[in-house]
Amino acid sequence: MLVTMKEILDHAKKNGYGVTAPNVQSEDTVRAVLEVAQEYNAPMIVDVNSFIHPDLPWFVHMIRDLANQVKVPVAINLDHGKTYKDMVLGIQSGFTSIMVDRSSLPYEENVKQTKEVVKMCTPLGISVEAELGHVGMGDNYAVDGVSNLTVPEEAARFIEETGVDCLAVAIGTAHGRYKGTPHIDFERLEQIVKACGDTPLVLHGGSGTGDENLSKAVHCGIQKVNLATELIVAGKEELVKFFEDPNFDKWKLIPTFKKGYKDRLAHYVKLFDQADKAWTK
Ligand SMILES: [Zn+2]
Repeated sequence: MLVTMKEILDHAKKNGYGVTAPNVQSEDTVRAVLEVAQEYNAPMIVDVNSFIHPDLPWFVHMIRDLANQVKVPVAINLDHGKTYKDMVLGIQSGFTSIMVDRSSLPYEENVKQTKEVVKMCTPLGISVEAELGHVGMGDNYAVDGVSNLTVPEEAARFIEETGVDCLAVAIGTAHGRYKGTPHIDFERLEQIVKACGDTPLVLHGGSGTGDENLSKAVHCGIQKVNLATELIVAGKEELVKFFEDPNFDKWKLIPTFKKGYKDRLAHYVKLFDQADKAWTK
């Protein structure tokens, strides 16, 4: 059942659980995500980067088709839309949610450009995610982990000024692999949650952040956790074992990768209390 991301995140906020947003990059990973959603009767957000497929409208059409075949609520979100072209392509492709990432720009410019996207998407029933503060890269963690963190009062003002449906915040997570140990600023998160009222909050860079940190973040008031690296690594580890057997069954290649990816995703679905939260219309 295809729904908007706003429906899922508002439901998560109201009912106190977190939602995994796994990055997909092929039909197989999409199927893996939808299988986990069904096995755990969980609402799910499919995150798609615009660069992941040469024919994005076709790729999203395929996801929409599969999502419409399952009973659990599924949203399809354009992850890190950077340019005006990304936005238009996102709308044309049939995403039910679009992230407009202008987090590298100064505050006023971020507001201005995010507002334009909200103006385009809201009449079409497409949810909008923006980012304030900047979630950087794990391989530059010593710098990125402590700079450009979200300021609580600014976050509240940003939501008010832009009308976004949810906001990604920088509290010490980072994309990719961490060089060093992740330190999450929970005090800041608590202040952001308080300042942002009913608006759901998003955490990018879930991979490698650790169960304790992520579980605590969800309990503090994060509703969406983006995951990419860890799911791919888990799939890869299954493949490494698979190829260690010289008599491997060549027809099991894709199911082997999918198993690793799915098991890791299922781990987080359980951790975030997302299981059995699906609803029907
Ligand atoms: Zn991200």
